[in-house]
Formats: sequence, C-alpha cells, structure tokens
Amino acid sequence: METLRKVTYEERLDPAFEEQVAAEPGGERIWDCIQCGTCSAICPVSVYMDLTPRRIIGMIRAGFRHEVLNAVSPWICTSCYACTVECPEKIRITDIMYIVKRMAMKESEYHRFVVPAIEEAFVKMVCRNGRLTESRMGMKVARKSGLRYTVAMMPIAWRLMRKDRLRPLHVERMADPESLRKALATIKEVTCAASTPPTRPAPAVTA
Ligand code: SF4
Ligand code: SF4
Repeated sequence: METLRKVTYEERLDPAFEEQVAAEPGGERIWDCIQCGTCSAICPVSVYMDLTPRRIIGMIRAGFRHEVLNAVSPWICTSCYACTVECPEKIRITDIMYIVKRMAMKESEYHRFVVPAIEEAFVKMVCRNGRLTESRMGMKVARKSGLRYTVAMMPIAWRLMRKDRLRPLHVERMADPESLRKALATIKEVTCAASTPPTRPAPAVTA
C-alpha cells in the first residue's frame, strides 16, 4: 500500500487553535491528553476516518487548524460517546468533534461532503420554522452537494413523492417558532456560562 505524507510548514500552523477549542464548552480538558490512543482504539468508525480521534486531539494541540477543519472524521463521528467514556483523562472527545464541526461551518472551511450540507440545512430550517421540511432540505442539500449527488438522489425522491412521503410544495412550520429560538438562545447562554474558563497548565518545574 502506498503511503502519502504531506508536509506542513510551521508558518502555516495556528498556535491559537488549541486555546480556541479549549474555550468552547467541552474542550476545557484538551490540554490533559496523553496521546494514549484509547479513543482511537475504542472508536467503532475510526477505521473509516482520515484522522483518528487521537490524531484530531494531537493536531489541534499542535495548531494544525486547516487540516483538522477540513478532515472528514468529525462528520463520520456517530456521537456514540465511547471515546469520552473510556478516556483516562476525562477529555470530552465527542464534544470536541462537535466544536470542530461548528468551527468548520462558521468559517466555511469544511470537507465538501454531504453531511455538513445536511447539518447546515437542518439547523437553519429548524431555527427558522421550528420544524423540518424534508423536501426543502433535500433541495438545499442537493444544491450544495453537486450534480452527481442530485442525479443519484432523483430515483429515491421520485419513489417518495409517489407514496406521498415527500411533498415539494408543503412547508412544515410550528405555531410559534420564536419561542423555540428563545429557548435555544437560553440553552446557549446557560451552557456557555457553566463552562469553566480554560487555563493552560503551567509547565512542570524540575529541580
Ligand atoms: S483517550 Fe484521552 S488521553 Fe488518550 S489519546 Fe484519546 S483523548 Fe488523549
Ligand atoms: S463519539 Fe465519535 S469519535 Fe468518539 S468513539 Fe464514537 S464515533 Fe468515535
């Protein structure tokens, strides 16, 4: 098997990346990683990942911002929490996967893969209408994912429409979407307030 190695020059590294991740809820303990690899060993889908959970943590700490934000791994993560349960340093790896996804979407720097497009469409639609309209979401995802994906999905869409499971003109909407938006804003506020401000551990002093 051919092994490809990519060299990243130090000037492309972002030393602030680690602190930004540590400042997000769930990222606080990233500095405690001992690179034991338990998370990668326990992860049921690490075999399909381009960067294993251990490498994701290590690369965040080393400042590989672009490589981590463009990785497929966070989008493959199934949120099973096995890594978080087994980590000897109690690092919330699953939450760190979510932090990476949020950052990638915010900075529009993510792998051109269908899952980010689905997540983006889902969040926008639920925040706006309080409910999900599958036909509209399908159209948005198709627009972002390219012609090949759209053509591949056409037979499925057609079968669903024939069974009245997909209604292109119908929009699902809750009676008061504003109340949901307020609830989400409160959750965000409370979660951020509860998060412990990160403190980088002082280097060990030897006699
Ligand atoms: S299990 Fe925890 S300590 Fe070990 S490599 Fe993974 S994140 Fe680091
Ligand atoms: S939460 Fe994600 S990264 Fe962790 S073990 Fe499950 S699939 Fe792997």
